[in-house]
Amino acid sequence: MALDLRLSQVRTGVAAMRQNCNYQLGTTKLGRKRGLIIGMFVCVCCQWEEVSIMDEKNIPIRTYQVCNVMEPSQSNWLRTDWIPRSGAQRIYVEIKFTLRDCNSLPGVTGTCKETFNLYYYESNNDREHYIRESNFLKIDTVAADESFTQVDIGDRIMKLNTEVRNVKVTTRKGFYLAFQDVGACIALISVRVFYKTCPLSIRNLATFPDTNTGADTSSLVEVRGSCVNQSEEREEPKMYCGADGEWLVPIGGCVCNPGYEEKGGVIKFIYIALLTSADISKCCTETQPKTPNKPPSAPQQLISEVNETSVVLEWSAPLRLGGRTDIRYSSYPGNVLFSPQQSGLGATRVCVSELQAHTRYTFTIGARNGVSQGHTARARESVSVTLTTNQAAPSPVTSIQASDVTRHDVSLAWQQPDRANGVILEYEVKYYEKNQKERSYRIMKTASRSADITGLNPLTVYVFHVRARTAAGYGEFSAPFEFSTNSDPLPLIGNAANSTLLLLSISGGVVLLLISTTVFIISHRRGQYSKAKQDLEEEKHLNPGVRIYVDPFTYEDPDQAVHEFAKEIDASNIHIEKVIGIGEFGEVCSGCLRLQGKREIYVAIKSLKAGYTDKQRRDFLSEASIMGQFDHPNIIRLEGVVTRCKPVMIITEYMENGSLNTFLRKHDGQFTVIQLVGMLRGIVSGMKYLSDMSYVHRDLAARNILVNSNLVCKVSDFGLSRVLEDESEAAYTTQIPIRWTAPEAIAYRKFTPASDTWSYGVVMWEVMSYGERPYWDMSNQDVIKAIDEGYRLPPPMDCPVCLHQLMLDCWQRDRIHRPSFTQILNILDKLIRNPTTTLRRTGGERPVPTLLEPVGGPEFVSVWSVEYWLQAIGMDMYRDTLTAAGYTSPDSLLTLTQQDMASIGIVTPSHQDQILASVQQVLLSHMQQIEEQMQDSMVPV
Ligand code: AMP
Repeated sequence: MALDLRLSQVRTGVAAMRQNCNYQLGTTKLGRKRGLIIGMFVCVCCQWEEVSIMDEKNIPIRTYQVCNVMEPSQSNWLRTDWIPRSGAQRIYVEIKFTLRDCNSLPGVTGTCKETFNLYYYESNNDREHYIRESNFLKIDTVAADESFTQVDIGDRIMKLNTEVRNVKVTTRKGFYLAFQDVGACIALISVRVFYKTCPLSIRNLATFPDTNTGADTSSLVEVRGSCVNQSEEREEPKMYCGADGEWLVPIGGCVCNPGYEEKGGVIKFIYIALLTSADISKCCTETQPKTPNKPPSAPQQLISEVNETSVVLEWSAPLRLGGRTDIRYSSYPGNVLFSPQQSGLGATRVCVSELQAHTRYTFTIGARNGVSQGHTARARESVSVTLTTNQAAPSPVTSIQASDVTRHDVSLAWQQPDRANGVILEYEVKYYEKNQKERSYRIMKTASRSADITGLNPLTVYVFHVRARTAAGYGEFSAPFEFSTNSDPLPLIGNAANSTLLLLSISGGVVLLLISTTVFIISHRRGQYSKAKQDLEEEKHLNPGVRIYVDPFTYEDPDQAVHEFAKEIDASNIHIEKVIGIGEFGEVCSGCLRLQGKREIYVAIKSLKAGYTDKQRRDFLSEASIMGQFDHPNIIRLEGVVTRCKPVMIITEYMENGSLNTFLRKHDGQFTVIQLVGMLRGIVSGMKYLSDMSYVHRDLAARNILVNSNLVCKVSDFGLSRVLEDESEAAYTTQIPIRWTAPEAIAYRKFTPASDTWSYGVVMWEVMSYGERPYWDMSNQDVIKAIDEGYRLPPPMDCPVCLHQLMLDCWQRDRIHRPSFTQILNILDKLIRNPTTTLRRTGGERPVPTLLEPVGGPEFVSVWSVEYWLQAIGMDMYRDTLTAAGYTSPDSLLTLTQQDMASIGIVTPSHQDQILASVQQVLLSHMQQIEEQMQDSMVPV
């Protein structure tokens, strides 16, 4: 159904605004567009200029322009007049603008931008003269699809961009919009603000008023209809107004009062004399007929109108009514659908549907009244018509069934339509993620009554519709069929809960492996097993319970890879708030993500800046394809991606304290050794997970570790592997993070888990020195030389000897002598358990001979209780479960994983997340207590 887009009948305008600016009310009209009058404020000292230009039809138009591309840190604001929202709950802003390509401006590198920001501010005051910039909430960063390169106006008009954004406005009577320029060369050509309504509609004889759509993009507004004149309620009429202005799901409705019939959705008066039998008997008792009653004669002038496999029959009342008014009509044959009904018809019209295509039918209409004999009308009381139905499309497919459901695939099968109406040439399967609705769907065609659907996202509800096609065209789609993908990589065969068949093709040959269900499938590329560029030598054998990382670059289509591992998010569910960093591909912002049925969460949003090449898009999205494969409390979690609209975005969990190096520098000397070790433990736990998945990070450094508000450290930045693979020798040496990279990786690109271990040693050093730059201001060349000569970083101030020794172990020249992440994790856990003996000695003291077997010591007596902890995080319902499974101390919790929880019956994902996040916090505070005890027990020197 077409959308009902309506311009808000409001006065809106474009105005200039800047903090401390002096405003004047301007009177110039920017233009009049379909009832939209645009007035404006002019800001005296702001950078936006009001400029007249000619449009492509040589008609003068007013624009607002800004082009401060040479100076850094621009923030130029332009705002509209107050716009009353007139009951709208979500408004749409359509902006037409042109934008100059930064590359076409000489000498502006770094300062020139290709985006601007759109903000809004809800207010009851229609005359605010001064609004603080900080009061505005960001709707979005707007990038151009097309940027122009020459100053020529004609060229610029050709590259007009139209972007539409929408935002919920529910709190005040109206709102202001603002445009923030951050250093781009832009001309704003027009701004339209509108909202959507579901138009006045009549369904099932009930009128539904013109209704504003709801506040959320997924909201349905329930509307009660009122029965049209001369009709009464059969069942409460209701419909839902969808966010796109479409009416959905009509329920209930009204029926015509006696003597009235429905025609084309409205009531048409037919003949007033027809009353119901009850009324007639009442009338009869009052007015006795003078002549005896008789059955009626046959109805007259029966005409038919064929529409594919439906027929409308209409006739006139019999010539003789037999002295009575209680006439009723019946139609024949049966086994077809009559509307409003087959017999007892008061009206002289009936619609017959579900007939066979290309078939000859004879219809008979009989008339009866209260004195007619028998159950059917006699021949003399009937009239007939013979007709042939047309060719028709097949009826909808029914009985869809799903089987072999896995994380990403499902097999569907269905029945042939009841009325195929010809030979079925093919079936079409349309499917989409339920929460995406039909905004983005995929189509698959098949000649058989089944289809294998692949490439689905795990644990996602999908909606399927199937329709058939004959020579007469497509039939209607089936009713929606929903099912959810699961988290299993493979479908279960029979009832073998622990085993399943994995068909794995290796080097062109096909091998059948019987493995545990927890093993994840390996990627295929043109029939070849490929773990691509990971080092096979270091690769783990395919162990039950181990997931293997799949290189997204083994996919020819990057979108297929990203959708395999990442969930597509509708951009309207993301609310960007502020810029928090600059990444390689564009800005990193923070904001909120609200997904249907889930609570709103704070997220980080990385966007791909406008003007990107295919390669940049692929590289940008590859990080999401990698991140999406990981699921660990110390690895940054991917929430999803936006690829189907611009800008392309990657959404991850938000880490309040940003990157670890900056965070530590800010808090120099403020943490206890135990807290620092807690951070290191988190990082190594994440790295162990990655190496178990055979993923080599290649850029492990404190700048690529993010810290959340609970001081939990998570490994991030999964972009470097791709960079280092692709680059030429010269580019490679400039890209490689020398100070963090193992000598063999620098020398001959030997990246392995052991080279990540080297980097981990450097991260340990960064952490213990509160973000100091490794090797200070030595040049890269000097660093390489020093390492080669056997030089290693000295212990940072107050660093326990054992930790420095662990760093030295990570920096063993021969990589086979470096500890694995599992070993490092065990060492740190032992240090944490025995801090009094292991973490006390710092710097100058005698080094511990070998850290792989740290010195034992008296176990710490725990004052911590699982009960209090669970109570504190609102999870006390799991007290018995965890205690029974032996999780009674912080030590035991160290090993707790999602799988462990699932196996003991903690299956709710949000509960699992909460427990895991809190475990790290518990450990930190537990260690803090130990630290305090240690200090208390220390003898002053
Ligand atoms: P990246 O492109 O990953 O290097 O990100 C650039 C910067 O954005 C980082 O140095 C962080 O300061 C910030 N950032 C990236 N991701 C997040 C996140 N998930 N939470 C908070 N800040 C982030």
